[in-house]
Amino acid sequence: MARKKQLIIPIFIPFGGCQHKCVFCNQEGITGEVELPTIDEVVEKIESYLSTWKGVGRREVAFYGGSFTGLDLTLQDTYLGAVQGFIADGRIDSIRLSTRPDYINEDIVRHLKSFGVKVVELGVQSFSEEVLRLSGRGHSAEDAELAVEILRGLGMEVGLQLMPGLPGDSVERSIESALTARDLKPDFVRIYPTLVIKDTPLEGMYKDGTYVPWKLIEMVKLCRRMLDIFNETGIKVVKMGLHPTKDLEASIIEGPYHRAFKDLVEGRQVVEGSP
Ligand code: SF4
Repeated sequence: MARKKQLIIPIFIPFGGCQHKCVFCNQEGITGEVELPTIDEVVEKIESYLSTWKGVGRREVAFYGGSFTGLDLTLQDTYLGAVQGFIADGRIDSIRLSTRPDYINEDIVRHLKSFGVKVVELGVQSFSEEVLRLSGRGHSAEDAELAVEILRGLGMEVGLQLMPGLPGDSVERSIESALTARDLKPDFVRIYPTLVIKDTPLEGMYKDGTYVPWKLIEMVKLCRRMLDIFNETGIKVVKMGLHPTKDLEASIIEGPYHRAFKDLVEGRQVVEGSP
């Protein structure tokens, strides 16, 4: 059996650093994590993953589930500091984290680099101003473009997350977003179709009829077109659809969810009910 080439140790910081909630988001619901982890928990999790890792490639610690660079600076340094011993003794190669486009500037990126952060994933979601506004994102498309420019300029690896199907979205707007993302030349992309998750403002919008979830077949077709746009230029789409877990599935109210969503898009499975 081939040995795994990359270990990513996920540390969830649910809503950490988020100044407000985007209408679609419930990190606590989909991850099952409610509190910010303590430093002991961070260290224990890293030790636990490393103790069972039999692969050969890059080992990274990833801070996901919030806006890392929106955390209080002392807390950022504490989390990043907890990984430094593992980097110093060669057991961890680098750190990656996700954050919002408007929480990036040159000083922030230099600071992250000084702690061994090599990859930043930006929750862009859409490059349509209307979609961003209706989704309560609180940043502009220009913020996302500027953040990518700063990160690339300082030698950081950049990933972009896109969410087709948000309020106000359309096939045309999602394709435009994919084209804009492609032109920014990220190192990789993640595509997360919008789902209606329990205890979010989007749930209320769905229930009062102001948001209509996309059908699975529509979303599969759209994501196929988005995938082709990235494939044509060699940009890796590392994820399509949320990772299926019990917590996630218990939180989904409605929307284009399938456990093997990427397989549907790549034609390895057939969407039920499609012609
Ligand atoms: S989508 Fe990102 S920025 Fe928005 S509330 Fe969720 S974690 Fe925070």
